[in-house]
Amino acid sequence: MAKVIDHIKQAKGKTLFSFEILPPMKGDGIQKLFNQIEPLMEFDPKFIDVTYHREEYMYKKREGGLLEKVSLRKRPGTVGICAALMNRFHIDTVPHIICGGFTKQETESALIDLQFLGIDNVLALRGDAIKSEAHFVPTTGGHEFASDLIQQIQSMNSGVYLDHEVKNAFPTDFCIGVAGYPEKHFEAPNFETDLKHLKNKVELGAEYIVTQMFFDNNKYFEFVDQCRSQGINVPIIPGLKPLSTLKQLTILPSIFHIDLPSDLVQSAEKCQNNDQVRQVGIEWAIQQAKELKQHGAPCLHFYSMGKSDNIVKIAKEIY
Ligand code: FAD
Repeated sequence: MAKVIDHIKQAKGKTLFSFEILPPMKGDGIQKLFNQIEPLMEFDPKFIDVTYHREEYMYKKREGGLLEKVSLRKRPGTVGICAALMNRFHIDTVPHIICGGFTKQETESALIDLQFLGIDNVLALRGDAIKSEAHFVPTTGGHEFASDLIQQIQSMNSGVYLDHEVKNAFPTDFCIGVAGYPEKHFEAPNFETDLKHLKNKVELGAEYIVTQMFFDNNKYFEFVDQCRSQGINVPIIPGLKPLSTLKQLTILPSIFHIDLPSDLVQSAEKCQNNDQVRQVGIEWAIQQAKELKQHGAPCLHFYSMGKSDNIVKIAKEIY
């Protein structure tokens, strides 16, 4: 199996195709996911990203008004899904590894599992705050920033494990990707500071960047220019999400801290139903994808969010 960075190098400037999937909701089988991915295989995706969803907590009222803290993991199985996709589709997978909810020891164990499975790609992320917390709180014994996680992975890549008693350890060989934000990460005080932190992730060993979704290509082009002017020279893969419901006009900006262009908003608002919005989203994404390809984007990475029919229609126009 190959690394994302090698796929990009081997493509010699051709724009690759990849996408991100979510593990099934707990209790759902894997077949639905296979059915979703099957139609995308004809466009020769080079890798599939699998998101990670950490444990959340909720409080349930018990008799006498007592509150019981209950732990919930709605979408477990990231590592297992990666292995299942490799078996089924003979494709490279990129599990997302996050800081939140993991101690360093647990991270090490997860990375050892990946190595045994022959998975040599990871997207290293901090993760967001859980719903019961106002802001991200690092797990005790875990990492605060994605950059700390990268350092742990890089240590393992050089054969240094947490337990220094382990001598002559087999070095892992992970290709590390990281997240970048053309419209700035919402917590960063300004764009320059965010870029400085992004540059740090690259200097620590990240080999490529995948961007947060954006709907205005100029945001991506400006982001790439700014990165280059700051000396960030790794490939920057644009992340694309086709708009698919009217509600997303408010949901996407509130969750992902991004702007939607007025033309797109107006077109969506004119629609009579979500089928029409989905069509508007497809046409918008086709235009975005065509322009990004013309500008030599290394890969177009689609956020599937559980459905693929719209991505199939877009890919048919692009690949
Ligand atoms: P970081 O790079 O650690 O940055 C977080 C913030 O801290 C930024 O504001 C940054 O400027 C700042 N910062 C960084 N380093 C320092 C430092 N040394 N000192 C001070 N400030 C610093 N979340 C999930 O839970 N699961 C997923 O599967 C998932 N997949 C994602 C995939 C992509 C492509 C993207 C773009 C996001 C994904 N996320 C996922 C969401 C991500 O976890 C959040 O956006 C999170 O808030 C930030 O993660 P990060 O890795 O960018 O964090």
